[in-house]
Amino acid sequence: MTKKLKIIPLGGLNEIGRNMTVYEYGKDMILVDCGMGFPDDSMYGVDMVMPDVSWLVKNRGRLRGIFLTHGHEDHIGALPYVLEKISAPIYARRLTAGLAELKLSEHGLLEKTQIITAEPGETIEAGCFSVEFIHVNHSIADSAAFAVHTPVGTVIHTGDFKIDVTPSRGEMTDLTRFGELGRAGVLALLMDSTNVAHHICL
Ligand SMILES: [Zn+2]
Repeated sequence: MTKKLKIIPLGGLNEIGRNMTVYEYGKDMILVDCGMGFPDDSMYGVDMVMPDVSWLVKNRGRLRGIFLTHGHEDHIGALPYVLEKISAPIYARRLTAGLAELKLSEHGLLEKTQIITAEPGETIEAGCFSVEFIHVNHSIADSAAFAVHTPVGTVIHTGDFKIDVTPSRGEMTDLTRFGELGRAGVLALLMDSTNVAHHICL
């Protein structure tokens, strides 16, 4: 059977929150973000909404790493819930790694979890995937987008971002790197679109 790249969203589509995407190729899988969702008006008495990770648990032996774009709850909130069931190293920028560490220590999961910091420009090898960290602006510091380099090509996974030419802190979104990757060719762009409909005025 020929190997195929599969991108499997476990949450985060057509909803705000629960951002969680599996990339699978052959016997390797990585997870990008591990967020919780927020209850809507119909969910009386519900405090938080977790993604259904039963498929991930079933395939946990193939998970090579969890990559976090940034430290908001809808991107890291489900970490304790998921890491109770599976274990995999976490890769994130410094602030995101710190927030993940806090969350895991509250749940007594820090001992069994490796958290590794990576900064823009760095590429992490995880199975057959090479995940490149790219700086983006967002309402929380240390946000990243990923170029997920796979054996069949590159997928860009933006996480939440804005293009702020005068960021109050740090550098602006690394448009140069996105341009270079675009010129080299990408298979797919997975892009945050929170509230985007509100900005389309016809
Ligand atoms: Zn966010």
